[in-house]
This record gives sequence, C-alpha cells and structure tokens, in this order.
Amino acid sequence: MPDTIGIEANPYHKLADVGCETSRSTMIVDLSAIEANYRKCQALAPHSACGAVVKADAYGLGAARVAPFLAYLGCAHFFVTDVAEGIALRDVLPSSAKIYMLHGAMPGTELAAEQHNLLPILNSREQLEAWLRHCRLRNRALPAGIHVDTGLSRLGFPIDELHTIAENKGGLSELPVVLFMSQLACAEWRNEISLQQLNRFRRLSHLFPNASLSLSNSAGLFAGCEFHFDLIRSGGGIFGFSTADDPDFKPAQVVRLRTQIIQCRKLEHGEAIGYLRSYTVKKRMRVATAAIGYADGFPRTLGNRGHVFICGSRAPIVGFVSMDLITIDVTNLPESWTLPGTVVDLICPEQTVGDLASAAKMLSDELTTGIGQRCRRLYVSS
Ligand SMILES: *Cc1c(COP(=O)(O)O)cnc(C)c1O
Repeated sequence: MPDTIGIEANPYHKLADVGCETSRSTMIVDLSAIEANYRKCQALAPHSACGAVVKADAYGLGAARVAPFLAYLGCAHFFVTDVAEGIALRDVLPSSAKIYMLHGAMPGTELAAEQHNLLPILNSREQLEAWLRHCRLRNRALPAGIHVDTGLSRLGFPIDELHTIAENKGGLSELPVVLFMSQLACAEWRNEISLQQLNRFRRLSHLFPNASLSLSNSAGLFAGCEFHFDLIRSGGGIFGFSTADDPDFKPAQVVRLRTQIIQCRKLEHGEAIGYLRSYTVKKRMRVATAAIGYADGFPRTLGNRGHVFICGSRAPIVGFVSMDLITIDVTNLPESWTLPGTVVDLICPEQTVGDLASAAKMLSDELTTGIGQRCRRLYVSS
C-alpha cells in the first residue's frame, strides 16, 4: 500500500474514526499518476497551455483534492460546468487560477460569477446580452469566453449568429473576450469532420484577436499540432482514461476501486444466488459476498458477467449486482484468501478503469462520475 497523504472530506469518514471502515469501499486516487499524465499531455502540446477539465467533481475523483494538486503542478486554467462547481473550486484554488464555466452564466448567476472571479463561456445571444447587461449595471468590463459551434450541435453560437453579432458590433466590442473555443465532435479521429471543424474555427478566430484559442479536449492532443492552439482542455487524459488508440500514449492508471468481503458461504448443486435466483449452482461452490453495489455506482450490467480480483486472482461475479452487495465465485481460491475483511479489487492493475467500463458497456468517465459518496476517496502518492 503506498503512503496515504490525505483523505477527502466525506461524511462517511466518521465511520473510520470508530473503526468501521472495513465494511466500505474505497476509490484510491494516485496523485503521482495524475502528475505523470499531466506532464505527458503538456509534452504532447509543448506550445500550448494544458488546462484541466474538473467538472463533475473532477470526473468523480474529487475536485477539492485533485484541482489544487494540478495547480501545484503549474496548471493555470480550470474548466467546470456552472457557478456552483466554480464557487466550490474557487475556494480551493489560488486566486490567480482561471476558472471557466462551460455552461456560461445562467440568468441570475452573473453577480455570483463576478464575485467569485469565474469566467463564463458565453454560448448564445441570450447569455451574451445578459452578461453585457450585468457589465453595464456594474460599470465594469468583465472578461468572458465565447464558444462557437463548429459541428457538434450542442453548445455555442451558431456560426452565422456569431458573424451577425460581430458585424453589428452588438456590444461585443465592449467585452474583453479572453477565450475563444469550440469542441470537436470526433476528436478521436483525424477525419473530414475534424478538419472541417478546424477550418471553421480558424476562419472565425480573427474575430477575437485578443483571445486565447482552444479547440481540443484530450483526444484532440493526438489529432495533430494544428489542433492545439493556445490552450488544451484535458480531463480524461489527465485522469488516466485512454482517449485515443495512440500507441505512444499509455496513460498512468490513476484510479483504483476496492471493497471488502463481508462473508463467505458454501452452496450445493441446485441452489441459486441473488435476486430472482439468476445464477443456478451447478456444482459445490463457495461464494463471497462483498460490500459494493449499484448504490455506489457499481454497474448493474456486471451481474453474471463482470470479474473482480482477490489477491491478484480473477474471480467471476455471480448473480445480480444488488444495491449494496455483489456475490463472487471464489470456489477456486484458497479459503484463507476469502476471510471476512479481505480486499476485493474492482479497478486495479489487472483490470483498469477502461477494462471495467468496457465490460459494463460504459465509458471510463461515465463509470467514475457515477461512483457515489458512500465510497470514500483516498489520495495516495506512489
Ligand atoms: C468535458 C469536456 C472536455 C474534456 O474532455 P476529455 O475528453 O475528458 O478531455 C473538454 N472540452 C469540453 C467542452 C468538455 O465539455
């Protein structure tokens, strides 16, 4: 076990104080691996700044702990979704760190954004007008970003609307635009679509001569240096999720997930395991019951399909995943390996977050953002 360097604030930690921690599961976040990945992302785009996307509590890893660590590594640009995430992040980051809100400023949140020094990335005419109104009210030219939609059809100004606003001046000249960005639809592939988005973005960038330009997420790092511009927005790349089939980029594994065996039982031919008796026992077997379930975000699709590791040995999940428990076939493991309290590894060197996610037909970040707060976070430095 590597050195423990801290535990994220979590109400369930009170249980640890009374010696009950063994019945819970733990997500272990390796800060050294985050550092290695962050440096790799930087090295892949040496002429750009590497910003960190820490929305959704840093993809479930815990933004309060991960973001200050990235700031300590030199990261100066952070992306969240909205004011609530931004305010929480502002509390833990140096005042010099730039915090951008990808959803822009929703009506009524402009003052809070200003007071916490958050930068809205304006996505629409409504958001732009509301922000300019707020600026006039406060008699200050408050900086913001602009997002243009070049082909994802999700967030951002449609291209013609951006032209109209720029031509009519529409107040845009009053606004210090510090970031001009777009998002690639198929960053994993350097295809026609990506090149079309690149060309559209490049052609529009002259509208914002003073802005930093940003087009690429983690996968865009591999699309070629012409996609990099001034600022990369990396989430998955930093957190160790494979983002491209690039053989040169093997991310260091950041996340581990483990739980514990609560009890073990022997079953005879003809018995069945779990709700709806979905697994029928065909021969004498031993089954361990462990303390994680779908309430912790462990995917229900892994019932009768997924695997766990106990002391480095692979063991199948049998029966359905229930709310707080899974059942594991440990017939082939020595009894001394399956005593109550034994660690069960769900994400580990033998089964990466990507492996577990694809077994569950999920994305890695879909899996980690779903891991609940009952699962404590432990930060280590290997
Ligand atoms: C989530 C997000 C990112 C980060 O994407 P990764 O693939 O995790 O690097 C970048 N840009 C935008 C607009 C996003 O929403």
